[in-house]
Amino acid sequence: MNILVLNAGSATVKFQVVVTDADRIAGDQDVKLLRGQIERIGGEAVITIRNLDGSTRRTTAALRDMRAAVDWLVGYVTDPESGTGLTARGDIHAVGHRVVHGGEQFRSSVRVDDAVLRGIEENVELAPLHNPHNLRGIEATQRALGAGVPQVAVFDTAFHHTLPEHAYLYAIPYPLYRRHKIRRYGFHGTSHRSIAYRFRKITGRARSDVRIVTLHLGNGCSACAIRGGVSIDTSMGFTPLEGLVMGTRAGDIDAALLDYIAAKEGLSMSQVESMLNSQSGLLGISGLTNDMRDLLAEANELQDRRARLAIDIFCYRARKYVGAYLAALGGADAVVFAGGVGENSAEIRARICEGLEWTGLRVDHEANAALVGGREGRFSAHGSSLEAWVVPTDEELLIARDTYRVVSGMALPG
Ligand code: ADP
Repeated sequence: MNILVLNAGSATVKFQVVVTDADRIAGDQDVKLLRGQIERIGGEAVITIRNLDGSTRRTTAALRDMRAAVDWLVGYVTDPESGTGLTARGDIHAVGHRVVHGGEQFRSSVRVDDAVLRGIEENVELAPLHNPHNLRGIEATQRALGAGVPQVAVFDTAFHHTLPEHAYLYAIPYPLYRRHKIRRYGFHGTSHRSIAYRFRKITGRARSDVRIVTLHLGNGCSACAIRGGVSIDTSMGFTPLEGLVMGTRAGDIDAALLDYIAAKEGLSMSQVESMLNSQSGLLGISGLTNDMRDLLAEANELQDRRARLAIDIFCYRARKYVGAYLAALGGADAVVFAGGVGENSAEIRARICEGLEWTGLRVDHEANAALVGGREGRFSAHGSSLEAWVVPTDEELLIARDTYRVVSGMALPG
């Protein structure tokens, strides 16, 4: 089955075309025909496409909205020149969408129908920055391909629906949960699920035996405690703002600070929230950038004090969460790193693991240094009782596989 995977944001849409079916899933033989992104939708959009052979194509097109972008994309993917082998719109058999917030009602991936669209709409209140764009992506695809092509929504929150009450409830008056559904939802679920699945595959361990802490460290960062294949705790909360230090997000802070900052700086609550989301984290501390690669260069080559401080705080917070989740799990087999930082920076991985020797984790620095650029493998020293791994996340593959499973009526794994 040829599946178009879409991740629609405010002015961006990321995409992949994946060929998958039951045999390919069983044999890990899915094929990615192309992937890429359309940025700056609304004006002269910038389009980057990575083909199957690794070649990259960059182009621009005037795309005034999401509908125009998806239309362009469907046209490109089915153009013989694209090299996908797809030649007509009908060659796209199904579409899988990343949807950020599934609230409490969506516990797994579902085929999109009117009731699902209404459900995603209802959750706009919980994810005003994301769900409206995801919805626009679905609507644009329906227009471009017609109602006959099945579409599947894969929710970022769904993997965390297994959190026990004691992990998802905040210690605030209980009626707030009942009245407004205020609770921890967790995000990056597709990524944590993908990492856990791949970890089981490469280590040959049974789902029921695996206890791991996964660290998705990208621009957004989150940790997840996984036991028996299911999420039992995660660091992002009601919104993706909670938890680890991120590129531009503060992660955990004292809630009383909102009012205090607003009063001291003469800001509204929404301005403070925006500061915590987009001007904090690595960017806020360093005053330089949210990009870890650039920060490492500033810290190591130019000895920039605040760049170093930002990195220190980032690593310390991540290590604290590893410790907390080891306690939540009652010990674990491994800490597993993923995301742009987790998959590429041996230095950051080593810094996070520093001081965790008491857990039985010893880093093999040579193995660690070799794990960059999408390689997967173990970097804890032989015999460590807590292992450390890099397992690149592949959310798009998981979305494609879920789409196939939903459309063909196969059971969905957790
Ligand atoms: P997103 O969350 O937007 O998907 P990514 O997972 O692509 O982001 O991660 C982006 C982050 O990964 C950036 O901070 C980038 O600097 C960082 N990164 C990528 N390569 C490296 C590297 N070699 N060393 C350190 N950080 C890196």
